[in-house]
Amino acid sequence: MACLTDPSLSEQRVELTKPISLIYIIDDIFDVYGTLDELILFTETITRWDLAAMGQLPEYMEICFKALDDITNEISYKVYKKHGYNPVQSLRNAWTSLCKAFLVEAKWFASGHMPEAEEYLRNGIESSGVHVALAHFFFLLGHGITKETVELIDGNPAIISSTATILRLWDDLGSAKLIELCGNLVHFLVQDENQDGKDGSYIHYYMKEHRYSAAEEAQKSAINKISDAWKRLNKECLCPNPFSASFTRASLNLARMVPLMYSYDDNQRLPSLEHFIESLLSESVPTEGVY
Ligand SMILES: [Mg+2]
Repeated sequence: MACLTDPSLSEQRVELTKPISLIYIIDDIFDVYGTLDELILFTETITRWDLAAMGQLPEYMEICFKALDDITNEISYKVYKKHGYNPVQSLRNAWTSLCKAFLVEAKWFASGHMPEAEEYLRNGIESSGVHVALAHFFFLLGHGITKETVELIDGNPAIISSTATILRLWDDLGSAKLIELCGNLVHFLVQDENQDGKDGSYIHYYMKEHRYSAAEEAQKSAINKISDAWKRLNKECLCPNPFSASFTRASLNLARMVPLMYSYDDNQRLPSLEHFIESLLSESVPTEGVY
């Protein structure tokens, strides 16, 4: 609802919820449930989109792949019916890239390998899931589907990758608490963080790479990178680009929503986000002076 604010995009909102939910489920499979051998098999099966090999997967992965295939086919069919283009290959490719990026993280964790922060971030842009979500939205919207724009979407263009960078780094800033944000002056209260998942974080790898530098320094680097990504995104939005205004606005709205999604308070809750959800769905909640 924050990304696609136009009331006429109701169907796209409903459809987009499905791949976004699957991104979270597959992320949990990689970070929490799967063994490395299972994850390699899962990624190979997705890469080939091999329905015949589905039975060789552990049951929980088989269920997931079946749901992924059903939803991908369902969305592709809807897009084809409405816009005359079948995006199934692009959507399968986007899921494959996501799983490959998740697998890279799982292998780093399993082997104890510490990537450099930059290497981690390059992969993290893909593992953010933003490309999967926005590729689905592009086709669901159906504006300006041409050979050129499909190739652009498949290649994770700047309008998507800059949004993904913003999401990945905000996510990684984790429980670091934003207390003041004014231009480039950003101050953080550093909190002890014990909730690093198996997928690492930019902050963690930056500190290791720079000989255990202070957390504040790593956070500053992340903030600078978020600032650079915003400049790239603004440029994409302000300069002529081959995408429709609705698609551009959705990318921009997604990036705008990110701080709300990751500004945890001391109780690991998201009071601003909770408030906005309530005010969006219920008329009685005041919106002033909250954020
Ligand atoms: Mg993960």
